Amino acid sequence: MFEQQIERFIKRHNYTSLTPRAALIDMDGTLYDSMPRHAQAWLRMVNEIGIDATAEEFFMYEGRTGASTINILFNRAFGRDATDEEIKELYHRKTVYFSELPDVSPMPGAQKLLAYLQKIGMKRVLVTGSGQSSLINRLEQDFPDAFPIDMRITARDVVHGKPSPEPYLAAMRKADVTPDKSIVIENAPLGVEAGDAAGAFTIGVTTGPVPREVMEEAGAAIVFPDMPALAEHMPLLLNEISQFSKN
Ligand code: CA
Repeated sequence: MFEQQIERFIKRHNYTSLTPRAALIDMDGTLYDSMPRHAQAWLRMVNEIGIDATAEEFFMYEGRTGASTINILFNRAFGRDATDEEIKELYHRKTVYFSELPDVSPMPGAQKLLAYLQKIGMKRVLVTGSGQSSLINRLEQDFPDAFPIDMRITARDVVHGKPSPEPYLAAMRKADVTPDKSIVIENAPLGVEAGDAAGAFTIGVTTGPVPREVMEEAGAAIVFPDMPALAEHMPLLLNEISQFSKN
C-alpha cells in the first residue's frame, strides 16, 4: 500500500535500509488540537502592536521558535528585528493569551498511536518548538508514560528551531538512533522540512488548513489526512518498511 512512498524516500536519501527504532513526535497540531488557539493568541498579540496578519499565516510559521516568528512579523511591519526585550515581552503576552483560551484537547487518534508505539517497544521522543509550559505540563496526564521526562526536546534545548534539523538531530541523540532508524510525525510544513533535513522518514499529518501538496513539497515521505488514519495504518506502514529493508 505504501511501497512507492517508502521506495521514493529510501532512494532520495540513499539509504540501504530503513529500520525505525524511534518515533520523534511533534506536539502542537499533532498530539493536541491546539493550533487554532495558538493562531488566535498570536493574532491578538500582533494586532495589539499594530501588525496586520491573518490567522492562517500562523499555521505556516508553526514549528518556528517564538523569537523567529516575532522577527518575521517585525521585519515585515517595521523593517527590523525585535529586540531581546521585545521578544521576551511579546512572546510572554502571546503565552498568556493562549492560556486564557479554553483548554485544548488531545488530538483524536494520538493516544491510540502512542499506545501502539509503546506496545511494540518503539522509543518515543517529544520534539516541540513550543515553550508553552501549560501544554507540556499536561503531557503526562493525557499520555501517561508516553514520553519519559528525559525524552523531550523543547524550545529550551535548541539554538535553532524548525525548519532547522537541529531539534530532530537532538532527539536522535536522546534516543541513541541514527536518521535511518528514525521516523518523524509532524503536522506543519516547517516541521516536515526539519524532519526530512535530519534524514528521518517524515510522516505529515494534515490536521489543519495546510494542504497535502505543501506537506509533500516540504519533504513528507507520506501524508495522512488525520491522526486516526495514521494510528490505523501505522502497523501496516512499519511492516512494509521492514519488508522493504529485507529486499
Ligand atoms: Ca506542530
